[in-house]
Amino acid sequence: MYRTLCRLRPHDAEMAVAVSTRFKETAKRKGRKEDGPLTPPLPRRWSLTPGDLYLLIGGAALLIGGMWVRHGGASLFADPIGAIAAVGQLTALYGTLLALIGILLMSRAPWIEQVVGSDEAARLHRLAGFASVWLLVVHALASTAAFVSGDSIATPGQILDGIVDFTVRQEGGVGATVAIGLFILVAFVSIRAARSFLAYETWYGIHLYVYIAVALGFTHQIALGSDFVGDALARNTWIALYAIAFVPLILFRFLTPIFRNLRHQYYVDEVVMERTGVVSLWVAGRELDQLPVRAGQWFSIRALTADGWWRSNPFSISAGPDARRLRFTIEAVGDGSRRLQRLLPGTRLFLEGPYGLLTGAVRTREKVLLIAGGIGITPLRALLEVLPARRGDLALMYRVPSKETLVFKRELQHLADARNAEVAFVTGSRESFAFRDDPLSAAGLNAAYPDILERDVYLCGSPRMMDKVEESLHELGMPKVQVHLERFGW
Ligand SMILES: Cc1cc2nc3c(=O)[nH]c(=O)nc-3n(C[C@H](O)[C@H](O)[C@H](O)COP(=O)(O)OP(=O)(O)OC[C@H]3O[C@@H](n4cnc5c(N)ncnc54)[C@H](O)[C@@H]3O)c2cc1C
Repeated sequence: MYRTLCRLRPHDAEMAVAVSTRFKETAKRKGRKEDGPLTPPLPRRWSLTPGDLYLLIGGAALLIGGMWVRHGGASLFADPIGAIAAVGQLTALYGTLLALIGILLMSRAPWIEQVVGSDEAARLHRLAGFASVWLLVVHALASTAAFVSGDSIATPGQILDGIVDFTVRQEGGVGATVAIGLFILVAFVSIRAARSFLAYETWYGIHLYVYIAVALGFTHQIALGSDFVGDALARNTWIALYAIAFVPLILFRFLTPIFRNLRHQYYVDEVVMERTGVVSLWVAGRELDQLPVRAGQWFSIRALTADGWWRSNPFSISAGPDARRLRFTIEAVGDGSRRLQRLLPGTRLFLEGPYGLLTGAVRTREKVLLIAGGIGITPLRALLEVLPARRGDLALMYRVPSKETLVFKRELQHLADARNAEVAFVTGSRESFAFRDDPLSAAGLNAAYPDILERDVYLCGSPRMMDKVEESLHELGMPKVQVHLERFGW
């Protein structure tokens, strides 16, 4: 098997492995004749690098700076009040740029997913969002201070009066103040401490106010921004920057999922209990052989039922895609996952995706170690099935609190045999381990996998477990490019 696979390109090999391991099994279960493997297409790879994205952002930042200088902004620094006005202008421009970058990062544009990854995009989105809000607050204060200052710089009381006056009297003032208020609200509920008190859906609903804030901010800038009033070129450039952020958002967050769902018409085909509290949904649909997807990716699942249509939850595919069905394995942790577990065959679904970079596409080494914790086994189970590998190149360490909480035990044993892979179930409390070291510590990992530095590590589990493993890998000196992970959180 390996020799044949090696002559194929890695992508083809991955699909060949997935299909050859599973199509017989599926055909048998469905009671149909084995009619040969189908190969779903792989998601398109864009010839872009993170450098291209940074170039785009750096280019926009330079353009904005150039526009401001062209309008004589630098000369404002001649006196203190002018300098405050300059700070007000620059913070408005760069605060908005950061907000637009934040929106672009969450657009789910495939090239952003590919070069940054959904985890990193979410992290950068968060950073850009907070920085943007800080800058816009400074803009509001500095611009008002410059406006209301006479011979001497305005006091905090005068600035406050100035903001009220601006809101009440200035055309578009209410919109601008509401926009800042919404930005502050969204930033507040996104602080980790505040977020832990909110359900995901509540937080997400409030988060959507950002779009209203950005729209209000846009009209305020075009109407009053010193750089845009009277300069059509600057105005059009500004509009183009908004388009760069919003067109991908509309295209990939809304239109593409709608189009894909109309085409594939996903529905629950089969519901399988894996163990208490864990259920697999087998999802079928039309033309799934045309759906580009690869093992390790995830979808956001929305059940089109009276009580489920308004919420969606992300789940990884837990089996290599075989162009006929997708399998999701769901652990019941809250309302959303419990509802999905109770779905009946035939229920229509709305899927967004596939997303995610925890795939064979990012692999850099021939040898691979998959480290799963708890339900984090789902994407790694799919990767164990499909990653092309020679005998012994593939290993899985599966960490669970007890034997009873293992999922896919038999499947994993079967895959270990079929793929000549090493599968280790690590169960029990840390104190009860037979190992001398905690298996997830640097020493523990090194003892179990002495060649670990020659491997790529794919990691998925609880945040605590992932932090621990990342720390251990760092301690062992593993380069970041060899570590690939998916966080099951927000
Ligand atoms: C990329 C990704 C892949 C995942 N794959 C799987 C999988 O294969 N199997 C599995 O059992 N679980 C998976 N999860 C976790 C799963 O999405 C959550 O357990 C589920 O959404 C919980 O929702 P709930 O309403 O049941 O529970 P809640 O009590 O509402 O949420 C429990 C926790 O789940 C997270 N969560 C809830 N809703 C969302 C959301 N819409 N987006 C992101 N996080 C959310 C939050 O951290 C929250 O604290 C995955 C998560 C992510 C982000």
